[in-house]
Amino acid sequence: MTEKNTPGEAANTKRNLLNMLPTEAEQTLRDFAVEHGEKPFRGSQVVRHLWQNPAPGFAEMTDLPVAFRALLEEHFTIPRLALAMRQLSGDGTEKFLFRLDDGEFIETVAIPEGSRLTLCISSQAGCALQCAFCATGAMGFTRNLQMFEIAGQVREMKLLDPPRLVTNIVFMGMGEPLMNWRAVDPALTVLNSPLGLGIGARHITVSTVGVLPGIVALGERPEQFRLALSIHAPNDELRQSLMPINTKYPLASVIEAAKVFDRRVTFEYVMLGGINDAGEHATQLAALARECRAFVNLIPLHPGGAGDFTPSSPEQIHWFARRLRAAGVEVAVRKSRGMDIAAACGQLRVERQRRRPPVSAEDNGNVQVA
Ligand code: SAH
Repeated sequence: MTEKNTPGEAANTKRNLLNMLPTEAEQTLRDFAVEHGEKPFRGSQVVRHLWQNPAPGFAEMTDLPVAFRALLEEHFTIPRLALAMRQLSGDGTEKFLFRLDDGEFIETVAIPEGSRLTLCISSQAGCALQCAFCATGAMGFTRNLQMFEIAGQVREMKLLDPPRLVTNIVFMGMGEPLMNWRAVDPALTVLNSPLGLGIGARHITVSTVGVLPGIVALGERPEQFRLALSIHAPNDELRQSLMPINTKYPLASVIEAAKVFDRRVTFEYVMLGGINDAGEHATQLAALARECRAFVNLIPLHPGGAGDFTPSSPEQIHWFARRLRAAGVEVAVRKSRGMDIAAACGQLRVERQRRRPPVSAEDNGNVQVA
């Protein structure tokens, strides 16, 4: 037997407008407007309040007739992410902890730099990959985020007072985006589409440990989204010991994927003192980077992550960078941002669980911007 909803049951089956692609939402809302005796443009007006000029709720869409707002309320939702904690660093980096409907927490970090504001967003609650130095990995995996929870992190920035206008996105918060491609794929559309958040594809970076099917899928999209690969070790033996996922996606396969990806990729390489920062590592890393013409980002380890690692000294990092450059590789050493608010992957949520203050500022590390 199939069940059909009568109009009276609509309250139980409200549709989440933020979980639709903007074009779908527009079609749905225009049809809905006409069905209820309004002009189709009323539908388009609502769409503008989803992402472009977001309203906290239907009640605040004051350019719409009151009766139509009430009708929308009966049939649709535009859920917020609840802001549970907010921390501002001395350097302007700001960290947000959001509580989701089922009580899960996710983190978002806003990193200002000149006229840019980069938002580091989460794609999963927790992470299954257990990279040895990462706080998110240590907390384990709970669930994939839905599309609206991913793009909603940016929407929430526009709803702050004053609003934060995000210019760049990096998928470097909690989770492995390419293990949640089902939601990340449409979220990329919302982030980039003019009817959505309108952020240029070249200002959106997906960061991955090297999940091949996801890299292929990202490469097949026509937009120029950027790809960052978390390499962190230049040979399989070492990478295996730091990143268990290397069993499934060893270096050779990650390099192969980087080569078939038709845009230039970035290698992320977190500098672990005495572990991956010796001359032989630079030589091996340079060979890999040259093989796929990758740009290398050296990331100072944020010491508040996981495991018992020591950050490489700034001198060691610069020495390592010079070795790479001498081998013909383009390198950037990432700046330390948000140290006083523990702005590395997963740290704010960890802190909340431990109920203790953030680690104090030191000279290294944090969430990085590609
Ligand atoms: N799962 C994806 C994206 C999330 S992590 C990935 O691994 O790429 C984003 C980046 O932060 C990754 O390069 C990750 O290795 C790095 N990272 C995690 N913990 C860190 C720490 N304590 N210090 C510096 N970088 C860290």
